[in-house]
Amino acid sequence: MVQRLVFRRRLSYNTKSNRRHIVRTPGGRLVYQYLKKPKKIPRCGQCKDKLRGILPARSQERSRLCRRKKTVKRAYGGVLCHKCVKEKIVRAFLIEEQKIVVKVLKAQQAVKTKK
Ligand SMILES: [Zn+2]
Repeated sequence: MVQRLVFRRRLSYNTKSNRRHIVRTPGGRLVYQYLKKPKKIPRCGQCKDKLRGILPARSQERSRLCRRKKTVKRAYGGVLCHKCVKEKIVRAFLIEEQKIVVKVLKAQQAVKTKK
C-alpha cells in the first residue's frame, strides 16, 4: 500500500521552521512529525565562548524559564564568561591603581617644587 504523506500544517515550503520527520502511528499510518529548531547555548558577549550553567532553550522557551536556569549568580552572569569578567575586574583595578600612582607622583612633585 502506497501512502501519501501530507503536511499537517499550512506551510508547504522546505524552510528551517518546517523541518519534520516521518513517524509510524500506532494505527500503522505514516505521519509527519514536526521538529523544533535546535536549542542553543548562549555565548559570551566578548570571547564568544559557550556559557556554562545555562539551560539551552529557544528564546520563547527561555522567557518561560525561571531565573536560575537563565543566569549564574555573578556580575555579568549569563552575559559574559568568568574569564572575561575576571579580565574586566583586573583591568578596572589596574586603571584605578594607575590613577592613584599619577596622583601620588603629582603630589611628590608639588612638594619638591615648593622646596
Ligand atoms: Zn568570555
